[in-house]
Amino acid sequence: MCDLRIATWGKNMERIYLDYNATTPLRPEVRDTMMPYLMEAFGNGSSIHAYGREARTAIDTAREQVAELIGAKSPSEIVFTGSGTEADNHAIKGLSELQKSRGKGNHIITSSVEHHAVLHTCQYLEQRDFEVTYLPVDRYGRISVDQLREAIRDTTVLISIMHVNNENGTIQPLEEICEIAQEHDIPFHTDAVQSVGKLEMNVQECGVNLLAFSGHKIYAPKGIGVLYIRRGTRLANLVHGGSHERNRRAGSENVPAIVGLGAAADLAKQEQDSYARHLDRLTHRLRDGLNAHIDRLHYNGHPDHCAPGTLNVSFESVEGESLILRLDMEGICVSTGSACTSGSMEPSHVLAALGLPPRLAQGTVRFSLGRNTTEAEIDAVIAKLPKVIQQMRILYRG
Ligand SMILES: *Cc1c(COP(=O)(O)O)cnc(C)c1O
Repeated sequence: MCDLRIATWGKNMERIYLDYNATTPLRPEVRDTMMPYLMEAFGNGSSIHAYGREARTAIDTAREQVAELIGAKSPSEIVFTGSGTEADNHAIKGLSELQKSRGKGNHIITSSVEHHAVLHTCQYLEQRDFEVTYLPVDRYGRISVDQLREAIRDTTVLISIMHVNNENGTIQPLEEICEIAQEHDIPFHTDAVQSVGKLEMNVQECGVNLLAFSGHKIYAPKGIGVLYIRRGTRLANLVHGGSHERNRRAGSENVPAIVGLGAAADLAKQEQDSYARHLDRLTHRLRDGLNAHIDRLHYNGHPDHCAPGTLNVSFESVEGESLILRLDMEGICVSTGSACTSGSMEPSHVLAALGLPPRLAQGTVRFSLGRNTTEAEIDAVIAKLPKVIQQMRILYRG
């Protein structure tokens, strides 16, 4: 695995990337399958001549590979979108708006720890006559299925709960949520962007109606996503135009990205077990190392239900954003649990939902590991971090 990072990062080899939940590098094997479709095989999948047919065949193959990865009954249940975010938007708006227009109701149930792709879509719908229940979570970010049951109304048209949380890796009780949704005949959507490739997913066994995931979280390029739509689940369209994707998502297909996603899905399927073991082993190594060398720290992921590869840690008496910058100077790239996008120091909505006191939330760092992560990198982090934390604690003014 280590030789891959040389190809990916070239002269920046000394950097340690531990932010795979934000994005993953393109795999060279994936790039190689894409190259012909960026160059000589440039046809439009809708054209009927040889160039078009070549593109169409490539799209069909990718659709089969993706269907295979998530255990879909038929490739026709797979719709390619422009991102994971678009897939979430399509699922939530498309289903809710259609159900409401049919007089089925206007109530949506989701959780308070969803990605913004889901949360902000629900907030948008709230401004358009929908009512949304945001289920609370326990201190590790899990919803309670009893509270889900209690939240269901006659007017509930959709339940949307993520599979694995992007900030702390906590896994939601998907099977139980599915059962409850089926008992009440309510469609269920899951944002599986952080679980596909890491955890076994079989949409037929699990029974979800809708599932979203994203190319760039599984070593395919950015700007390509997937929405699985179980046969028989009806949605309004988000993007209108031509008859692409069986009239479900208009716009000429991004053939190279679709081909790349297909290849990445195929590799993810083959390597799922070894990938999960690799992540699990290194996550434990990191955790053991932190425990041995740093005191006054807290883990925010679920102790029993946590996807491998994510370690969300709060360091007492440390200011997280400064810690990220200090680590960046050391060549270690990680994320904070604060909403740094706005330049503010607000703790993330996820950490807030866990009930983490602001004092701890602000000292929170997310390490997320991936394919190219090595033991040597983890050991380098363990060698550097304790000293940085110690220095920062001396300067800390709570
Ligand atoms: C990254 C991510 C998304 C968004 O996917 P994009 O392809 O970047 O739009 C949605 N949900 C979760 C949980 C994510 O981690």
